[in-house]
Amino acid sequence: MINYKHSIKKEFDIIVVGAGLAGCSTAYYLTKGGMKVALLELREVCSGASGRMGGQVLELEPATSEAAAGGKYTLSDEVIRKKSRVALGGKALLSSLSEELGLDVEYVKNGSVVIAYSKEEADEIKKGVEHQNEVYKTDIVFLSPSRVRKLYPVFGNNIYGARYSKTDGNANPFRIAYGFAYGAQKIGLEIFTYTPVKSLIFKNDKVTGVKTNKGAFYARFGVVIALSSWTKNILPEYPILPWKHLGFVTEQLPILPVPATDIYYGIADGKIVDSHSQKKGSMPFRVYSGSQKDGNIVIGGDPVRLLKMEDHLTEDVHLEDFIRYGAVFNKFWVKAKSASLIRAWAGALPFTPDGMPLVGSTKYKNLYMNSGNVNGCVFCPITGKLIAEYILNNGKTSIPIDFLNPERFEGDKFEWPEKYDYNTLVDYLSKK
Ligand SMILES: Cc1cc2nc3c(=O)[nH]c(=O)nc-3n(C[C@H](O)[C@H](O)[C@H](O)COP(=O)(O)OP(=O)(O)OC[C@H]3O[C@@H](n4cnc5c(N)ncnc54)[C@H](O)[C@@H]3O)c2cc1C
Repeated sequence: MINYKHSIKKEFDIIVVGAGLAGCSTAYYLTKGGMKVALLELREVCSGASGRMGGQVLELEPATSEAAAGGKYTLSDEVIRKKSRVALGGKALLSSLSEELGLDVEYVKNGSVVIAYSKEEADEIKKGVEHQNEVYKTDIVFLSPSRVRKLYPVFGNNIYGARYSKTDGNANPFRIAYGFAYGAQKIGLEIFTYTPVKSLIFKNDKVTGVKTNKGAFYARFGVVIALSSWTKNILPEYPILPWKHLGFVTEQLPILPVPATDIYYGIADGKIVDSHSQKKGSMPFRVYSGSQKDGNIVIGGDPVRLLKMEDHLTEDVHLEDFIRYGAVFNKFWVKAKSASLIRAWAGALPFTPDGMPLVGSTKYKNLYMNSGNVNGCVFCPITGKLIAEYILNNGKTSIPIDFLNPERFEGDKFEWPEKYDYNTLVDYLSKK
């Protein structure tokens, strides 16, 4: 049980706002570094996106690399290299986390695939793999169709190959978040749930604390914002948008080898088709999936309807979403298609212009950020560790995070589309 008893006097060295994977990890490493830390959360630990994710452990998040392609925010090779270092550091950290936290975080290295369903898609994926390996050597390779069929028969025969990482896989986000929270609490972290932060407290130009429904909390050395999709409620000037995402789980199946999977598909004449068989110029939709240890498969992606910005923080799922994702599951998870989708949920992923989180100091003295991690299973544990190092060691970190500087968009004007989904946002950014 997490112990929510805490001191009456609300004075700390550091306050961390938001108890998702990013906030819990940040709070853990700061507490471990000797700071007296308070972790403030609107609801429960891991109740935001972190408790709603598929648990895919991905070195390269497919949607992110896609967002970066084209337009002003295309990632340079130098940034790709730096981002890969953080991602590889994240996977290495996950590998040792069960031991560090004394709790199994269920990191199963069952691989990840981005599957090609046409020759054109296979050629694009191959090009991407070659480029990634030129820029930064990883274990990511292109797998031939026969290898994919052999490793993962669930996808049937109609495939043209896949991007594959054997050290990707799945993990349990609840165990990671609660592992950090429990671990830190044992050494002094104080956790305040149902304590929404309403605003920051400034003294002259310095952030000295936060106002909450339980009064003011003060911090001697700083406040770390780990609010992800809710960042704009406190700091509207930073371009982190909520982006609603759905999850569906199948009934239990005989255990099948199911990797962390990404598939791009289209819609033509009301039918689900491969991404190259839809109308020319239409952007493909993405469906992700992960497997659970007990045989359930989780799939998901964008909702079917276009929503306004504030609707992206809603958590409802509609019948039309079930119908779309049911049809997608039947088409691509060929050997499991008799299974039904039995439950659904929704959460808000953060969307940033270049697909990368904002980690480091802000323009406000003593205000730090670890927010906007889209690929949270791999990124949040390591960005939490790195922002803690940054605060504890005067800006020095074991892996460079300068490219994640929260001020990198300063001066850029965004006029976000009134209604959007991922494709609308990418389309908007690619024109800049
Ligand atoms: C359906 C879905 C599937 C996903 N699948 C994957 C996947 O398979 N693999 C992967 O790596 N990533 C996945 N993601 C993304 C992943 O969930 C995020 O990258 C990750 O959870 C981000 O963690 P976070 O701590 O930054 O944000 P969050 O977990 O969203 O944490 C932010 C916290 O801030 C709290 N908060 C809000 N307002 C306030 C306030 N005013 N005061 C205090 N606290 C506040 C919220 O309640 C929340 O707990 C998925 C996301 C969704 C929604």
